Amino acid sequence: WSSRDFPWTKNLEVNNKRVFGNHSFRPNQREIINATMSGCDVFVLMPTGGGKSLTYQLPALICAGITLVISPLVSLIQDQIMNLLQANIHAASLSAGMNWTEQLEILRELSSENSKYRLLYVTPEKVAKSDSLLRHLESLNSHSLLARFVIDEAHCVSQWGHDFRPDYQGLGVLKKKFPNIPMLALTATATASVKEDVVQALGLVNTVVFRQSFNRPNLWYSVVPKTNKCLEDIDQFIKKNHFEECGIIYCHSRMDCEKVTETLRKFGHKAAFYHGSMDPGKRAFVQKKWSKDEINIICATVAFGMGINKPDVRFVIHHSLPKSIEGYYQECGRAGRDGQRSSCVLYYCYSDYIRVKHMISQGGPGQSTMTMGYNRITSSGRTLESNTDNLLRMVSYCENEVDCRRFLQLVHLGENFDSTNCKNTCDNCSSSKTLIEKDVTLTARQLVELVKLTGERFSSAHIVELYRGSLNQTVKKHRHETLHLHGAGKHLTKSEASRILHYLVTQDILAEYVKKSDLYGSVSSLLKVNRSKAASLCSGGQTIKMRFPSAV
Ligand code: ADP
Ligand code: ZN
Repeated sequence: WSSRDFPWTKNLEVNNKRVFGNHSFRPNQREIINATMSGCDVFVLMPTGGGKSLTYQLPALICAGITLVISPLVSLIQDQIMNLLQANIHAASLSAGMNWTEQLEILRELSSENSKYRLLYVTPEKVAKSDSLLRHLESLNSHSLLARFVIDEAHCVSQWGHDFRPDYQGLGVLKKKFPNIPMLALTATATASVKEDVVQALGLVNTVVFRQSFNRPNLWYSVVPKTNKCLEDIDQFIKKNHFEECGIIYCHSRMDCEKVTETLRKFGHKAAFYHGSMDPGKRAFVQKKWSKDEINIICATVAFGMGINKPDVRFVIHHSLPKSIEGYYQECGRAGRDGQRSSCVLYYCYSDYIRVKHMISQGGPGQSTMTMGYNRITSSGRTLESNTDNLLRMVSYCENEVDCRRFLQLVHLGENFDSTNCKNTCDNCSSSKTLIEKDVTLTARQLVELVKLTGERFSSAHIVELYRGSLNQTVKKHRHETLHLHGAGKHLTKSEASRILHYLVTQDILAEYVKKSDLYGSVSSLLKVNRSKAASLCSGGQTIKMRFPSAV
């Protein structure tokens, strides 16, 4: 797709310079544009700041017809439309906040022969709930005036992702009604299973997939034990490393946001809080002051996130445990968009795990992004289970004192990262702790055996519990305490056992797969054995060694 011999190549290059002011294309931009303009369905995984918008805005400018963009937030849409207007490209939007006449006016203008609009932005519920939009699209299509569908933040389609929005699932209707219109799905975060989910739900066919490394070399990662002096620690950290610079502190609850803000103010920082229970006007006010550097620090729940475009965020601190590695990656990703060195510090204690777990089981605040007013489905045990799995993965990330943080995050996102490329920019890589190499072949073999014995129907969290001899409900329900390997790993800590298990996944000896439960259509991640890769381990032909901080 990188060829420069497409009929539109010249046109692309001219307009990229003249209209968008770019001297060249960034990695994958040309390829994506060529693929979508050739009429293919395209799925794009590109990290935040990579330049996704150009891949549909430039085609929208030079193709005949309208580009329909589905974007999750009204604020994001307004940002985009304003930016486009500065480049003298006209774009319209339809959202729930507009009155009927306004909307009709726009739709009418769109259908006119020489409409000034090149793009139409809508929120997903417009597609799911508005027949009139679909009727207008049909009429545009019958006049060959419908160029392409763009699904921004496409991971929102998947319940397996960290930001599921039910309205996104209704987007399947677009491909059903308009199979001939190419679709471009864009996201800055997706594991392999999320990608599969999205492709299926949107009904993409013969999809061309582009993905590039998600490593963000300018972000420095560390995990720090959280004590009751945590706020003093945070204060010192900021004063020492990022004095009067701009940052985000993610907190567990709105009460925490307010408490952390108050304390930091006492320490002399310009801080404010931001959470879902504030009225929208107040939230916008705080965000604006932060954008204009009148406030340095925002203490926020995860409600503060999507659509934050501030380029010079120098630190993202987690005062509480994130709910998943994907979510954590995404939250950290708001730092250092300008490419300058920035810090990501996570304060971790085990009791936060209990707090977050409780919140998940309640389907409580922080679970949802308030802006769209949706609720995650928690009535289903399966969803609950997959949320708990995600959280346990996060815990084992925090308790891991050995492996490169980048490696751990990227492996989870489905990317194999060589940790020598970290160049000591995470706490584990730069640690001076002495590590002892240990032979873990027997443990590895037993874990593989356990996955087989239990019929390849359980999550990694369950296998670890079982291996360490737990008698929890799931173990008893399936009578797993009767297996001869039940408790065979009781000499290991939970984090050691899960580290070894996850290592087997990264080596492809075990594989994770997604299972949908029929009842609610929700998903969970289960382990299976990759027989060809496991053969040599099981027959004694392969030894596995890993480094540990102490004897195992
Ligand atoms: P994403 O949506 O992937 O997070 P954006 O589309 O918002 O990223 O682009 C991030 C920034 O990069 C924007 O400021 C944009 O103008 C800039 N950008 C995009 N493509 C190019 C390019 N080819 N050359 C220079 N700057 C670019
Ligand atoms: Zn590292």
